[in-house]
Amino acid sequence: MIVLQLTCRGLINSQLHGHLKIPRTMQNMARPSSDLAAFRKTFSKAKNIAILTGAGVSAESGVPTFRGAGGYWRKWEAQQLATPEAFSRNPSRVWEFYHYRREVMLTKDPNPAHLAIAECEERLIKQGRNVTVITQNIDELHRRAGSKNILELHGSLFKTRCMSCGHEAANYHSPICGALKGKGAPDPDTEDAQIPVQQLPRCEQKGCHGLLRPAVVWFGETLGSDILSRAEEVLDSCDLCLVVGTSSVVYPAAMFAPQVAARGVPVAEFNMEDTPATMRFKFHFHGPCGTTLPPALERHEAEPK
Ligand SMILES: [Zn+2]
Repeated sequence: MIVLQLTCRGLINSQLHGHLKIPRTMQNMARPSSDLAAFRKTFSKAKNIAILTGAGVSAESGVPTFRGAGGYWRKWEAQQLATPEAFSRNPSRVWEFYHYRREVMLTKDPNPAHLAIAECEERLIKQGRNVTVITQNIDELHRRAGSKNILELHGSLFKTRCMSCGHEAANYHSPICGALKGKGAPDPDTEDAQIPVQQLPRCEQKGCHGLLRPAVVWFGETLGSDILSRAEEVLDSCDLCLVVGTSSVVYPAAMFAPQVAARGVPVAEFNMEDTPATMRFKFHFHGPCGTTLPPALERHEAEPK
């Protein structure tokens, strides 16, 4: 991957400097097509479509990521709070952070990219065709848009897991517990609420009352083997793969999309930027996915009305 990355950067630089000679290593790598009609023809024949989605799709709904410039909650970025160590040191602070993120989602809505994916699934299922969303996003916007067949690689803001008995449950309460009501303000000078651990969200399984944590995959944790093998199954059987709102050199698309492309299956990337891995794919559509995806996934003339 690193070699490919350097080679492609070299190509881009030489184009910028007006040298048109293509390095020998790149001669057999055509630029991906951005021919929408050609993509639509492939799409109209696909029976099992895998759609990998990432942060870019959520960003277009205004969902904060707490990473990179301006991405702080109080004094911290997500990498500092979304860890098992941070939770065991200060469960009250980490719960304030997740409570804030859950409450923020009440003010956000699915965007045209989410809606186009959900509408496509609903339409194609009636034709005996499958659409599976494999997402790294934890905000449930795909579910709210109407998608049914979703693999959430990183879990969900709206699920909890018990630290004692391991029970996982959906949880849409607002606030998630009385003690967190009005807490979680993101401003850098907000004091920690220092909620006693007994007043944080607790397990409701009979006789348990263990401390709950958000059922999300934290930094330093591995993906569940069950969800990974389900994702692998979908990717091994898909005959079209879309990579939406995530750079193809960044996990998880980096992990999955090239292996699909290597099987000779068409991969179409919908992203704000070109990436070195773009060169491995058949199609690339540049721009906000809320703009590029709806015309790509709408009913094809070959589909029944
Ligand atoms: Zn429990």
